[in-house]
Amino acid sequence: MNIGVLALQGSFAEHIKMLNDMGIKTVELRNKNDLQKHPIDGLVLPGGESTVQGKLLKELCMMDLLKESIQNGLPVLATCSGLILLAKKISNGDTPHLATMPISIKRNGYGRQISSFHTEADFKGIGIVPMTFIRAPYVESISDDVEILATVNGLIVAVSYGNQIGLTFHPELNNDYRIYRMFIDMTESRIKKITSYKIITSSFALKSQPANSP
Ligand code: GLN
Repeated sequence: MNIGVLALQGSFAEHIKMLNDMGIKTVELRNKNDLQKHPIDGLVLPGGESTVQGKLLKELCMMDLLKESIQNGLPVLATCSGLILLAKKISNGDTPHLATMPISIKRNGYGRQISSFHTEADFKGIGIVPMTFIRAPYVESISDDVEILATVNGLIVAVSYGNQIGLTFHPELNNDYRIYRMFIDMTESRIKKITSYKIITSSFALKSQPANSP
């Protein structure tokens, strides 16, 4: 398994360390060539500054390739500005970026005064997890098929949609590997599905070959 970590700006090094600690191979994605050269099984979109990350994704011609891969089911763990990149709507009026997740998100949702805070809250399927928020957004609304994984003070801070997991906080800062484990399990089960699909289709192709074919 190989996890691509978007390494344009923000806290990508911390995510890489968490994954490597778990024995997971990672590749830094810095340009279009990296995307084409390295087959990846999953993708991490780190926190940072969504306007800068969005601008770079466009300028480096990575936006369309990533969007297509995510729409085709590539598992994604998006944190903070990474989740802003995924949102179909940014309620402050910014133009959406990858726009693969049907949620509306509010940038700097806690105001400029509360720039960062730390708390613990229940995370669906995991239990109580530590959560560090830094100039965090919050999820304002979701479409019916988006699942809420965690809330803090009544605000949505973690969601999932298909193979996309989105957090408004920074799991890479708390030495807690459980959310990464959830993401890796999801990635593993997709790899298995793809492999069994390939085996079924190739054995079908073999069977349907004429008997005298080479
Ligand atoms: N405030 C940043 C933005 O709007 C997100 C902050 C973060 O990723 N920690 O892009």
